[in-house]
Amino acid sequence: MKGWILDLYPDFDKGKMTVWLRGKKRCYRLKEDYKPTFYVRSDERGLKKIKNYYDKRDFSTNFVKRKTDIYSDREEKILSVTPQDLFDPRDQLDAVRFFEGFERYRFYNVDIPLDQRFLIENEIKPFSLVKKDNGWRSLEVGSDIHYSKPQLRKASLNVEVKSTKFRKKDDDLKAVTFNGQEIVGDETSILKELNDMLEKKDPDIILTSGGNSFDIPYLVRKAGLNGVELKLGREKTFHPPRKGSWYESYGKVIYKPPFYPLKGRIHIDTKNSFLYREGKIDGLIEASRISKVPIQRLSRRSPGSLINAMEVERALKDGYLIPWKKNISEDFKDSIHLLRADRGGHIFEPKVGFHTDVIKLDFASMYPSIINEYNLSPETLGCSCNDHYEVPELGYLVCKRRRGMIPKVVAPLIERRQKYKGLKDKNEFFEKRSKVLKWLLVTCFGYTGYKKARFNSIEVHESITAYGREILVEAAEIAQKMDFEVIHGIVDSLWLKGDREKIPDLLEKVKQKTKLELEYEGIYDWVVFPKNNSDGVGALNHYYGVFEGDIELKGLYAKRSDTPEYFKEVQREILKELRDISKEEDVEQRFEDLMKIIEGKRRELMNREVDPKKLSFTKTSSKRAEDYQHMTEMKSALTQYENIGYARSPGQTVAYVVTDSESSSAEEKVKVMENDPQLYDTSYYVDYLYRVVEEVLAPFENLKMRGGSRYNKTKKFSSKPSKTLKY
Ligand SMILES: [Zn+2]
Repeated sequence: MKGWILDLYPDFDKGKMTVWLRGKKRCYRLKEDYKPTFYVRSDERGLKKIKNYYDKRDFSTNFVKRKTDIYSDREEKILSVTPQDLFDPRDQLDAVRFFEGFERYRFYNVDIPLDQRFLIENEIKPFSLVKKDNGWRSLEVGSDIHYSKPQLRKASLNVEVKSTKFRKKDDDLKAVTFNGQEIVGDETSILKELNDMLEKKDPDIILTSGGNSFDIPYLVRKAGLNGVELKLGREKTFHPPRKGSWYESYGKVIYKPPFYPLKGRIHIDTKNSFLYREGKIDGLIEASRISKVPIQRLSRRSPGSLINAMEVERALKDGYLIPWKKNISEDFKDSIHLLRADRGGHIFEPKVGFHTDVIKLDFASMYPSIINEYNLSPETLGCSCNDHYEVPELGYLVCKRRRGMIPKVVAPLIERRQKYKGLKDKNEFFEKRSKVLKWLLVTCFGYTGYKKARFNSIEVHESITAYGREILVEAAEIAQKMDFEVIHGIVDSLWLKGDREKIPDLLEKVKQKTKLELEYEGIYDWVVFPKNNSDGVGALNHYYGVFEGDIELKGLYAKRSDTPEYFKEVQREILKELRDISKEEDVEQRFEDLMKIIEGKRRELMNREVDPKKLSFTKTSSKRAEDYQHMTEMKSALTQYENIGYARSPGQTVAYVVTDSESSSAEEKVKVMENDPQLYDTSYYVDYLYRVVEEVLAPFENLKMRGGSRYNKTKKFSSKPSKTLKY
């Protein structure tokens, strides 16, 4: 049997592993033997006792020698326990918990997902071409980035209900759109026709938008009520669904949407998949191949959790057992956020104000490269041999002799990304794959400091940023020696002014000194680093300007996810007006035009000519309505959602328009989008307009000198409209 591995999962009823192979034309289902061995460590008496326990329960047991600790290479006597056939590790966990409670027992290899283990142990990967006869054999040839792909059949699925505002599970089914074709009729006939179409098209992948939270569970429920046997997957049964839940991570509430995976067919909820948004199917396949996490499960994962999967594989391949870890969480979504918030990476205060002809240089994948070059890993830190690196500032010693596990995981990713970057063939799917690799590299740093990760180490995390700071300082010093002026430097970027001809020389010198690759990104015609309002120094990651001909903004209203669409456009429009200035004084000539724009916007808002949809705030709630003491906008919005039977949990988003900012009534302060707001609080939004405008114009000193007074005067126009206008 030959084909690409599409999907796999344990079938506990039959005690086998189900593997779906995608052949040239159709899909084949294989049922494979698989007996996942696990291990127990204890003292002599404990080992006897636990051997006895498992012998009685029909497991086969053996004393073996294994490495149990990534910090040491020592092997020790340990009990291996193998079931008669594939068993549900969740059944096993009760025993594990029971014995772990006795302290003297440690369990290994019990909490690694079985699909991933099966792939690792058979040395195959998802979406690779394989042959199955007596064993598994990879049929892949050639370079590892030019792999063959199956011709996957994709279909989209969307459910429409007989309700005007939003979909609820009790609504009647109106129509299903499958693969672009609309199916209408009564519920039973829609469901039956959907079944027929599924059978005819036989898609490998079903794409939905929000399918995990609505379409799939809704259809399954409707099928049950109407007595139709719906075959969304390639088997009649479903995986047990997981309900939505929320949890806290670094002080933020994160909502984890429900999960309705199908069997033998891949459901991707495009609305709830970060990796799909970034990399589409090609990116998901790339990530699935490198992490050995099946694509359906992977689609709802964060890049960081894939790093975890790769670390587990690395440790297993290097002969280590994986200790059972309580409270492990793979839902690490905040690493990107952490990276940005991490002041640990910052060194230079930006030179506040307006600058022209600024050169931008970036270190390519700085943190992963540091991990790789300086061998940073939990088990290489604190080495006792005398061949080591010394971490700047912190003085930790890092072994040079023994290659660390994290560098071993990161190095091939860096190499792979370089291969894709170096390709002359700029095919879109190469770019998608490369993008997913970029995210994996970005998150591998944050993951080292994540306390619920399997191989975390705060010392490694600190060491990476310490190296980062040193390297950025070194690069800036080299630049200054070569007569460049340093305008700003943060984490892995430098902004310089100086002779462009000398850049190649600078890059080379930095590479020699730091081992890391500094790259030329481009030129800003002009760039502004605004003052931080609170302490007067430069705001760290706030700037805007014209970079390589395009307007670029960082950290401003236009870039914040909760800024209403209308104001994002306002900021961009103002910057467009300034796009071709070549010195700060030029701004003065634009004064009248700028005022015209601002006045036009103000009038538009006052006259209620703006579509309320463009004024809506989309925010994530962190508490429940009753947990807010005062009538905030959020409390008002949450209360309304509750009142219309659509309660939002912490971590879920709410969208609303401010209708009367000074009201303390939950029904009047804001209106959630589901309540279809028609009006808005004009003075509130005019105030908001000024804040948005000020953010980009305030740094221009001469503009303030000349027009400051007039500019402030316009504010007076924002007098309150009469109450009667509002409702
Ligand atoms: Zn050493």
